[in-house]
Amino acid sequence: MREARFHIPAPGGVECTLCPHHCRIPEGGRGRCRSRECRDGKLWALSYGAPCALAVDPVEKKPLNGFLPGTYCLSLSCTGCNLSCRWCQNSDISQAAPGEVECTVLTPEEAVDLCIRRGLPSMAYTYTEPFTWWEYMYDMAVLARRKGLKNILVSAGYVEQEPLRELLPYLDAANIDIKAMDDGFYRTWCGARLAPVLGNILALHEGGVHVEVTNLLIPGLNDSDGQVRALCHWMVDHGLQAVPLHFSRYFPRYRMREPGMTPKATLLRAKGIAQDAGCETVYLGNV
Ligand code: SF4
Ligand code: SF4
Repeated sequence: MREARFHIPAPGGVECTLCPHHCRIPEGGRGRCRSRECRDGKLWALSYGAPCALAVDPVEKKPLNGFLPGTYCLSLSCTGCNLSCRWCQNSDISQAAPGEVECTVLTPEEAVDLCIRRGLPSMAYTYTEPFTWWEYMYDMAVLARRKGLKNILVSAGYVEQEPLRELLPYLDAANIDIKAMDDGFYRTWCGARLAPVLGNILALHEGGVHVEVTNLLIPGLNDSDGQVRALCHWMVDHGLQAVPLHFSRYFPRYRMREPGMTPKATLLRAKGIAQDAGCETVYLGNV
C-alpha cells in the first residue's frame, strides 16, 4: 500500500481524480476500481508492490505487432479496473479487490531487476487496468527507463489527462482498446464513456508513443458496418491511418453467455471496411 496521487478533499472523505469517474470516496470506502481507499482523510493505492499476475509474454500477445517484433516482455498486473465489461477475459483479477486473489510482493526495483535478469527488453503493464495502480506502474516505468528498458501500456485508456501526461514521457508503446465507437455502448456495457478514451489515444500518439488500437467485435452489439466504419474514419480523420488496428474475436466470458463467438467472416468484413477507409495496417486477433 502506498499513499495515492490525484485526489482532492471531499465532504466526509476524498474525491479521486485519477480517472473520469471521479469517485467520491467516504472514510473507509473504496472507489469503483476497488483499488483506492480513503483512510484518515488520505487516499491509498492498495495494490502498490503487490502484483497478482506476472508472466513472460511475446510482445505480439499484447497485441503489439509494430514494436520490438519477435521479442518478449515482462508482463505484470495488479488487481483492479475502472471499467466493468461484461465479457471481461480477466474478470478474476480485473474485478477483484486487493486481498481477494493471491499476490506476490515485488518492489519496482525487484520487478525491473527481474526483467533485466531474464534478458527481456521491455516491461508491460497489462491484463487489468494499469491506471488503477498508477503509482506502482509509474515507479516501475521511471526505473525501467533509467535502466534502458522499454515500457508498454495495455489499457482501456480511461484516465484523466494529468496522470496520463505525467506517465507519457516514460511510455514507449501502448495498445489501447476502443470498445465501440458509441458512447451508449460504453455506458451500457462497460460503465464508462467514449470521449476520454479517444482524447487519450490522440495524446499518446502526439506524445510520440507507438500506439496500436484494438477493437473487440461482439456479434450484434458493436460489429455493424456503420460502427466499424465510424471507428476507421475517426482514425483516418485524426491522422492515425498508420496506427495498427487489431480487430479481435470475442468469446463468451464472465457475465456474457450470448452471443456466441465472432464469426471469422465478421472480422474479414471489418478488415475490408478498414482498408477501404484508409487504415494502412489491419490485423485480426484471436483467430
Ligand atoms: S481510479 Fe478508481 S477510485 Fe479513482 S476515480 Fe477511477 S474508479 Fe474511482
Ligand atoms: S477494460 Fe479490460 S480488464 Fe477492464 S473490465 Fe474491460 S475487458 Fe476487463
